[in-house]
Formats: sequence, structure tokens, C-alpha cells
Amino acid sequence: MIITIQQQTLDHIQTIEHYKQVLALLSWDTNTYAPKNSKKQLAKIQSTLATKLHLLQTNSDFRNNLELLLQEDLNELQRKIFNLHLKEFTELSSISIEDIQQFSLKKALTSTNWAIAKLNNNFQLVQDDLKEIIETKKRFANLKNPNLSPYDQLLNEYEPDILTKTIDPLFENIKSTIIPFLNQIRNVNSNLDTSFIKNPFPIEKQKILGKELLKSIGYNFESGQMGVTQHPFSAGIHSGDARLAVKYVGNNVKVGALMTLHEGGHSLYTQNINEKLVDTGLGKYTSMGFHESQSIFWEKIIGKHEEFWKIHFPFLQQHHPEVYKNVSFNQFFFALSEVKPSLTRYEADDITYPLHIIIRYEIEKELFTNEVNVKDLPEIWNAKYKNYLDIRPTNYSEGILQDIHWYSGSFGYFPSYLLGFIYAAQLREAIIKDYPNFDQLIAAGDFSTILQWQTQNIHQFGKLKSSKEILNSLNISEISERPLLEYLIQKYGRLYSTFALK
Ligand code: ZN
Repeated sequence: MIITIQQQTLDHIQTIEHYKQVLALLSWDTNTYAPKNSKKQLAKIQSTLATKLHLLQTNSDFRNNLELLLQEDLNELQRKIFNLHLKEFTELSSISIEDIQQFSLKKALTSTNWAIAKLNNNFQLVQDDLKEIIETKKRFANLKNPNLSPYDQLLNEYEPDILTKTIDPLFENIKSTIIPFLNQIRNVNSNLDTSFIKNPFPIEKQKILGKELLKSIGYNFESGQMGVTQHPFSAGIHSGDARLAVKYVGNNVKVGALMTLHEGGHSLYTQNINEKLVDTGLGKYTSMGFHESQSIFWEKIIGKHEEFWKIHFPFLQQHHPEVYKNVSFNQFFFALSEVKPSLTRYEADDITYPLHIIIRYEIEKELFTNEVNVKDLPEIWNAKYKNYLDIRPTNYSEGILQDIHWYSGSFGYFPSYLLGFIYAAQLREAIIKDYPNFDQLIAAGDFSTILQWQTQNIHQFGKLKSSKEILNSLNISEISERPLLEYLIQKYGRLYSTFALK
């Protein structure tokens, strides 16, 4: 009898996972190559499937079976699968299907209005929508877990077991170390001309470069695909299908190359999850912060490594001699790494990037813990940019309207970017312990050793191990900002004390 229930439950879980995979495929298509006239019908199909999925996940017989099975003698894998789906059931069934549908519509509408508001530099256009989204998110968070503060609940949805009380001291320390360091760097006058990096670079050639970079880091083109989009993303459908989409900027090869490596890092994670986990719900990244740690590792730690570009710089010279034949390697590497406060998060350098995230974290925490008036947000945003980065947005589009996240209902997401950078630096230290010749591996273009290490210690487990369990298995007791700060100060201290002046 129990065996039959177990099989039925596993079949039900497989169906749930297939719905999720189809929805991920449709979302990839919507955001890349779906013809314009297909989008209305696509949205209807997505909505139907999402409703069906919700009904499967919140089916009461399914819940009863999960509870029954969890009282049985199970192996670790079975216990984790059933616990995961029971947790999903509890969270999803705390909100009515009508509420979910209504909120989906609200988010879709606000995202559309945000695009118009950004284009027209008009925050007032979405101010009331944003207020409503925040109120709904607060209400949902309370329903999902009344024992946590709403903002902690939102953080938990992306990074389990990480609360504001963990993040606050980490981010405070990063802020108080980075701001004076940034001011020090700012006073170094470099002799190197870096303006060439913004010269036109044909998009077709950027695509070839992107493919080359992905091949070199071990992205498996037989388990993925590369597309073009307006907002870069990776679609981890399952380990045999990890697609990515990149946005190219005609006059900035740096953005295209680094974004490709970033999305490539996400996809490497998905491609190397044990395929046996695919239809169980455990065949996904363990947390958003850890997902980001993998993309940031390939984008920033490898993709901004001097030795990495010694391999790939000749490609630029060969494919785009009009600009690169008179550029020296040092000039190129400095342009790639240059620290320059800007208003835009996605093109920020490594030193100012954490500050962009901290600004967003501080604002969303305020929004959910205190009574901050939404209409005051633009000024709060601008004042923080002035305080931390010493630059001030002059309009809403490059300030409060910059990112889509809040207008599409994603609160608690931003901290994962910086948690990812923190984890990436901790993982860099761990890999160097096992491979003290880490820099030489990069110089030799031996990325398979690095990828193998990641697969063995991180990727293969999917959700079988939590972020903390992964850290512990590498003899790291907990999340710490120390490795990140040491890495940044050493790398950029050297770059600015010697390199910039060469
Ligand atoms: Zn990412």
C-alpha cells in the first residue's frame, strides 16, 4: 500500500516538474524569439498552465500522501524530495488562487507601466502601482509565515536561512571598507587611455566572441543554446537544457563579454546538476545567492582575471583590428577593470557594484520595516547615491526607475547579487586551498579542472545540500565578507598602484 502511495506521489511530483519545465521553456521563448503576434496567445497559455500547476501543487490528497510518507522509514533522498514539496504546498496554499491570479495581472501591468514610465522619465506614473505591490507583498509574506517579519520572509524565499540580522553586519562592513577605498582609488590619475572600449564593436563579432568564451569555460552547447534578448537571463530548464540569452551593446564589448560569462556561469551550474534529480524538484540551484555565486565566479573572478584575457585578447585584435591593433594588453585589461562610479548597476565595476546592491537593500528593508512613503523614494535613492558613490542621478530613469525588479514584485532579490559575490570569494579561497596553482590553471586555459571542482563540490547536488551545508563541506563555517574584501583590496590596490601607471 505504502509503495503504491509512494509511486503515485513521485508520479505527481514528476507532473509538477514537467509543468515547471514547460513554463520555463515558454518564458525563454517569450523573451527571445517568439514572433510578436504570438505573444498574446502565449500569455494565455502560460496563465492556463500556471493555474494548473498551482492546483497540482496545492492538491489536498497530495499533501495527505506527503505527510503520510514522511512518517515512514525513508532514505535521505526520498525525505528531502517529500519535505521540499510539503514546504511548497504550505507556502502556496496560504494564498488563494484568486489572489495569486489578481496579483500576477497587477505585476504584469505594472511592469508594462514601468517601461513607459522609464521611457518618459515619469515616476508618478507607477507610484501608486508600486505602493499597491508593496502592500500586497507584505500581506502575502504575513500569510506565508506569520512568525517572520515580512522582509525576512521575502529574503528567505531567495536565500533560505539568511535573515536581515545576518546580512546587516556583512553589508555594513563592506560599505565601511569600500567607500574609503573607493575614494583612495579615485585620486589615482591613470595615464592609460581607455576610451577605445566604447568604440563600436559589430554585434555579429561580439556573438562570435561570446561563443568562444563560453566554449572555453566548458559550456556544453549540446545541453543549451545561446540567444539574444533585451534583459539578459539564463533559463535553467533542466540539466540537459540550460539556455542563456544575452543583450549586446553595439559600443560596449565589455558589457556583452562579461554578461555572456555571467549567464554562462548560471548555465554551467544547471548543466552539471546530477540528472537523476531532474524530475524530483531537487534538480535546481540550492539558493539564489549560490546561483549568483556561480555566475559571478565566472564573470568577475575568472572573466576579469589578467591571465584569462591574455588568452582571449588576441581574438579581439584578430577580429576587430580597426580598434584593437593599436591597443596594448595593459590598456585593454585596465579598461576592463577600471573603477569608475556610475549610475547604472549592470555596468558597474567590481568595487562600486556592492554599493549599488547595498543601496537597494537598505531601501527595500526600510520599505518593509518602517513607514516610508513611496513618493519619497526618488529622493531617498538619489541621496544614497550621492553619499556612497558621490554621484547623483539627474532624472528618474537613471535613478528610482532603473531596475524592473520592484515593479515586477521582486523584493528581497537584490541582496542575492551581493551574497553571490561574497560566496564566490569564499569559494575562490576554497578552490585555491585545493589548487594552489589556481592562477596557472587559468593561464593555461585549464578551466575544466575548475569546473570539475565546482561540479564535485557544488553543482551536482542541486537542492540536495543547502548553501550552508556546501560551505561546511568545504570547511567554511559560515558566510563571511572577509574573503571578498581581501580579494577586492588586493586586486584593485595592485591594479591602481602599479598597473594604472604603466
Ligand atoms: Zn545572475
